[in-house]
Amino acid sequence: QDEELRCIGCGAVIQSTDPDAPGYTPKSAVEKGLANNELYCQRCFRLRHYNEIAPVSLSDDDFLKLLSQIGQAKALIVYVVDIFDFNGSLIPGLHRFVGDNPVLLVGNKEDLLPHSLRRSKLRDWIRQQANIAGLRPIDTVLVSAKKNHQIDELLDTIEKYRGDRDVYVVGVTNVGKSTLINQIIKLRTGVKDLITTSRFPGTTLDEIEIPLDDGHRLVDTPGIIHPHQMAHVLSPKALKLVAPQKEIKPRTYQLNPDQTLFLGGIARFDYLKGDRAGLVAYFDNNLTIHRTKLANADRFYEKHVGELLTPPTKDELDSFPPLEREEFRVHEKSDIVFEGLGWITVPAGTTVAAWVPKGVAALIRRAMI
Ligand code: GDP
Repeated sequence: QDEELRCIGCGAVIQSTDPDAPGYTPKSAVEKGLANNELYCQRCFRLRHYNEIAPVSLSDDDFLKLLSQIGQAKALIVYVVDIFDFNGSLIPGLHRFVGDNPVLLVGNKEDLLPHSLRRSKLRDWIRQQANIAGLRPIDTVLVSAKKNHQIDELLDTIEKYRGDRDVYVVGVTNVGKSTLINQIIKLRTGVKDLITTSRFPGTTLDEIEIPLDDGHRLVDTPGIIHPHQMAHVLSPKALKLVAPQKEIKPRTYQLNPDQTLFLGGIARFDYLKGDRAGLVAYFDNNLTIHRTKLANADRFYEKHVGELLTPPTKDELDSFPPLEREEFRVHEKSDIVFEGLGWITVPAGTTVAAWVPKGVAALIRRAMI
């Protein structure tokens, strides 16, 4: 069983390779933790035992201060995630910082997922993913900030739960938080001029406030930068090409084992073991997918990356990280996620490999669809 180990403090996946990344735990501590049934990552361990916040590249000092201020406030936390990139939207440790405050989970970019997918099913799926990450949201709302879908409903839901509280909107960069805030401002015409920008005490982070009817405020917090986002390895131009803008049309490939799919030149999928099967790919409709034989795939990539296999373009190749391979044994119908790019749904009883640029995560999760 390839069960990932997770820190019981912050929910990050335990790893022993990168001390600067979330979930880092020395090997010996993993064994000890498992033996005591109390597996914390090094960061949470220090926090618990020495009250020391170890810096981690994910969240700089300011952001941790901000989170703890939110924890101390009496607030409704509106947590915005990108449903197309759920894992890339996670803020490790958020559940620890929110304290007793209720969390309303907002799944944005609903417009990208196929219409045929029942929204109630999608909501259940998101809630389940949140639970795996250690969060117990009081409710989940699906919206499209860009298309202005369900924003009224979101505001009603916020009113329903906030009681006598301020509202803090949190999210990592690129989930569409600014787009959402702008829609909220537009809907509440008249308050446009009342927006104030001030600073969270003790930090260099700016806040934006929208006054609510009863003297309370809706506060837009700065987006936290997630280190594994595609945005860090692709040029803004290339990122635009692979970030889906429209409803995704799933593409089905009948694959035999020993076949490979190239996702532009950005990522690669190898079908290693299993029966001939239809695998469904969810990526931007304009991303070119190329099929080759696994045996030829390395040579094919070397020869064609930057041209047939693009993005990246030829002139971006120098700064484009090499692809790294990770193998997955699939026990139940699952999605192989290329973080920030999309996913391929694979049947149970197969073995596959995902190749992603160094620094970007590949992972397996229960199938969304
Ligand atoms: P922020 O960093 O969280 O403030 O994100 P932005 O509001 O700047 O949005 C990031 C990107 O996501 C932009 O390209 C937006 O156009 C896009 N975006 C935001 N909301 C939606 C949405 O509901 N649907 C889609 N398809 N794209 C969105």
